[in-house]
Amino acid sequence: MNKSDQNVLVDSFGRHHDYLRISLTERCNLRCVYCMPEQGVVLQPQSHFMTREELVHIASVFVKLGVKKIRLTGGEPLVRKDVEAVIEDLAKLPVKLAISTNGVLVNQFIQTFKKCNLKAINISLDSLREDRFNLISRRTYFEAIINNVELLIEEGFHLKLNAVLMKGFNDDELIDFIEFTRNRPVHFRFIEFMPFNGNQWDWSKGFAYHEMMDNINAHYGATVVKLEDCKNDTSKSYKVEGFKGTFAVISTVTNPFCDTCNRIRLTADGKIKNCLFSANETDLLTALRSGKEIEESIRESIWNKKSTRGGMETFEEFSNKDLNQKNRSMINIGG
Ligand code: SAM
Ligand code: SF4
Repeated sequence: MNKSDQNVLVDSFGRHHDYLRISLTERCNLRCVYCMPEQGVVLQPQSHFMTREELVHIASVFVKLGVKKIRLTGGEPLVRKDVEAVIEDLAKLPVKLAISTNGVLVNQFIQTFKKCNLKAINISLDSLREDRFNLISRRTYFEAIINNVELLIEEGFHLKLNAVLMKGFNDDELIDFIEFTRNRPVHFRFIEFMPFNGNQWDWSKGFAYHEMMDNINAHYGATVVKLEDCKNDTSKSYKVEGFKGTFAVISTVTNPFCDTCNRIRLTADGKIKNCLFSANETDLLTALRSGKEIEESIRESIWNKKSTRGGMETFEEFSNKDLNQKNRSMINIGG
């Protein structure tokens, strides 16, 4: 396998990349403490971002190179003004479409999702307690989000809920989150707190995979069942016997899952990131605007992907601020 092989994006470690996550915008209607720097982010001028036509064109080049799944993310993808048209255009490509959203505006897009066969929806839900949720998100949309979660379940969407678990914030809700899956067919994912520019990361706030599992096993005992993980899963999945839903842990900090990574990220300003933690980016939008072919730049970027977390292989490297703060903030990357 080499970098010029047709219809497959491969890196120097032989990993195939067929999953593209596109950030539609850097804007958001929430201000989650772990994602958005407290002082906010400086918004770039509109001309720096991909137009709908540019975004769809770049996406179609990725599809030609073997991408089979596209997830829309951000910022909050549903605050982009032309999001409906973007979804409709991307639905014409031969890919599975998915979206990560904070859920605030989901009810306005149910028909678009259905029409475009977009069934896989991830919603961030960091607390089941309104006052606490509002503290974490620095906004007051808890009720709208919970109603939209129930609406998506009723409408039969394939729903995953994401909670970033942090000590002293929401770690005491771990069992409540799992109880949420007792009568609901949802997949709850617990994400270890990851370092990004300006998010005050410090692992003393981190809640590790093994600590979560100790708490879960102490509570549910032998009724906790390990489920089989799919090849490219970024999480370790479980369920409690008899519960309708399932749960999983994304252990990027204590137990990264880079060996089978198939992900590529495209930022809202048209830059390819070959890893969530890569400080290096390749500017596809400027190349496209100056009439250049972008295929070779895409292949080159993927080929140069580092083996683990943008080159931060050990926990010591990953927690070193001189290394982990070189990246953008999560809101500017697109999670
Ligand atoms: N606005 C949408 C949302 O909240 O789902 C999509 C974008 S958000 C950046 C994507 C995911 O990244 C969310 O599940 C969020 O919880 C996660 N995330 C953001 N910052 C994080 C951090 N520091 N550590 C772990 N996960 C983080
Ligand atoms: Fe917005 Fe999602 Fe970041 Fe929260 S996690 S600030 S909802 S982009």
